[in-house]
Amino acid sequence: MMLHEIEPKKYRVEYRNVAPEPKDKVLLYSAQELIVREGEALGYPTVEEIGKANYRYLFSIDETAYFSILDENEAEDIAVRLVVASAESEPGAVRFVRLPERSVRYLSPREEAYAGAVGTQLVGWYRRSRFCGRCGAKTEHSETERMMHCPKCGNMIYPEIHPSVIVGIFHGDRLLVTRYNPKHMEVSNGHLFKAPVHEALVAGYIETGETAEEAVEREVMEEVGLKVKNIRFYRDTPWPFSGSLLFSFLCDVDGDPTIRIEEDELSMAVFKTREEMPDRSKEVSLTSAIMEDFRLGRL
Ligand SMILES: [Zn+2]
Repeated sequence: MMLHEIEPKKYRVEYRNVAPEPKDKVLLYSAQELIVREGEALGYPTVEEIGKANYRYLFSIDETAYFSILDENEAEDIAVRLVVASAESEPGAVRFVRLPERSVRYLSPREEAYAGAVGTQLVGWYRRSRFCGRCGAKTEHSETERMMHCPKCGNMIYPEIHPSVIVGIFHGDRLLVTRYNPKHMEVSNGHLFKAPVHEALVAGYIETGETAEEAVEREVMEEVGLKVKNIRFYRDTPWPFSGSLLFSFLCDVDGDPTIRIEEDELSMAVFKTREEMPDRSKEVSLTSAIMEDFRLGRL
């Protein structure tokens, strides 16, 4: 399963310069946490429940609009107010709690998990784009599109997306799986996270001036010292937590299959048969989706 898979619901990112309605939902982020409704199902406070604030429209899923509060001090003040009021409320009343923003991906309903995830990327971008990187002046939001522009020098700042590749490398009927060196850290939105300790695939960012296929060849050579051929696109998914769009490719070892791992990044790399793959059907990521497709004989 992948994060963006919320069918039959539809994510609508196109910018709309609209004011919030009472029933619209609010993605309130403060200090890497998100304010959610207490309970089994993932849910968010509404504009009505928060009251007057400086809202910014983010996106819609079907007909449900999602807003946020961009100013970090204002967001934190409202978060404190909601959580304190919840603690003092009568039994049975609506309560709000703080949730680490990265953990939304494990929750359901899926469209609310995706909203919470995409919101981290958009709100993070807005918060980093308050000032012009060229001249330092305060930026303003475009009236017509999702873009911050500088009234002083004309600089235009669009949300950045970092394209990356994830590579399934085959040698005969076996797939190469890797394990990150625990020292290797993932940097996202300026914050450090421990890389996952479970098995992964060769992956990396596409560099400036490079095609996705060239990135595949370079990353495979850098991480495991293999030459590859028959590079073919497989599937893609947005990964908002690192601001990425992940393109997955499949390829075959070209010639010598001797693995030489990049030890700073990886602690292990080995070819595995379908039977040797663990069940990762419960996970939400492109890596686990590829591994599941391999394990179940779908590729
Ligand atoms: Zn400027």
